[in-house]
Amino acid sequence: MAERPASSARPVEFDLPVHGGFAPVGIGETFPDDTPDADELEIAGEPGQDPAAAFRRTLGMFATGVTVITTQDGEQVHGMTANAFMSVSLRPPLVVISVDRRAKMHALLHEGRRYGISVLADEQRSLSDRFAGRATEGTEEVGFDLVHDTPLVRGALAHLVAKVVRSNWGGDHSLFVGQVEYARYGEGRPLLFQGGRYRHLLERAPVFSSLPPEILAVITAEGVERTFEPGEFVVREGEPGDELFVIIEGEARVEREGNALSTFGEGEFFGEIAVIDGRPRSADVVAVSPLRALAISRDLVRSTVEREPRAAWAMLEVLAGRLRDD
Ligand code: FAD
Repeated sequence: MAERPASSARPVEFDLPVHGGFAPVGIGETFPDDTPDADELEIAGEPGQDPAAAFRRTLGMFATGVTVITTQDGEQVHGMTANAFMSVSLRPPLVVISVDRRAKMHALLHEGRRYGISVLADEQRSLSDRFAGRATEGTEEVGFDLVHDTPLVRGALAHLVAKVVRSNWGGDHSLFVGQVEYARYGEGRPLLFQGGRYRHLLERAPVFSSLPPEILAVITAEGVERTFEPGEFVVREGEPGDELFVIIEGEARVEREGNALSTFGEGEFFGEIAVIDGRPRSADVVAVSPLRALAISRDLVRSTVEREPRAAWAMLEVLAGRLRDD
């Protein structure tokens, strides 16, 4: 038998036999009618909290990616943001989505209908908002590609087209199991969602990765995302500066009088000198490549450092490293 090229080497689980052809007893039966209400749940923690809200918050601790589910109904293309997407089986290829019974999407899906799944990339947050009905002014136009008569959001990190083979009642949501007919993936970073907020995947963040999650959550939620073209100034020497920048993606170069002093990449921060001493910027910072950065205000940096000595120490370590390099 010809050897498979390394790039398409299959994980070992593909070659393990799947026993039987029948589901074990109990699997495949419908959901029980006597499911408890959220009010009957035992919720640990603060007494008096709303059980349904606490249940929701508990589920929200599970980090997911974000997808846009799409379907075509006659001439109409409809999309809906969903994070309740899961792989079910490799053989046969099955996935499942969970759709609110009140959603318009719910009325469009049924057995035999195809749906598309577009896994959103990190920079497609505005599309997630749009397809969740939260579009803000100025949201860019959405482009769709049609595959197997199914619309898919252009530019997404991965695409799947699935045909609904089973649908199940799941309380106030329904589950639509889809047999996958098409799959494509690309390179890039996914948009993440956890604790009711979008998150960024910062793989190398010398200061920020050492912070406790509750502080990191405040910083990423309150920081403002900015994008810069290659060659664009992020900060200019002499300007007043009250923001520190953390690079989400790309590179930035620090320059003084046209001389390059250092280059910062993903996860690193810059702009701290003016934030700490309150005086004008001491150098220019220019985007080397397309740059995405989180701008964090002086007040936020200050309150973080005051609340969390580990943040202060981690920042001092980075600054000391910069002094040594100079
Ligand atoms: P609508 O609310 O009518 O439409 C959704 C939005 O998409 C509208 O703003 C509409 O203008 C826009 N839109 C639709 N089609 C097009 C098109 N062709 N071109 C341009 N814009 C279009 N709900 C679930 O049921 N399951 C989940 O797993 C889920 N996960 C979520 C995850 C996140 C991160 C978020 C933010 C929301 C999630 N929701 C989920 C909520 C869900 O996205 C919203 O309730 C959504 O509004 C329901 O959509 P709908 O089908 O009722 O359609």
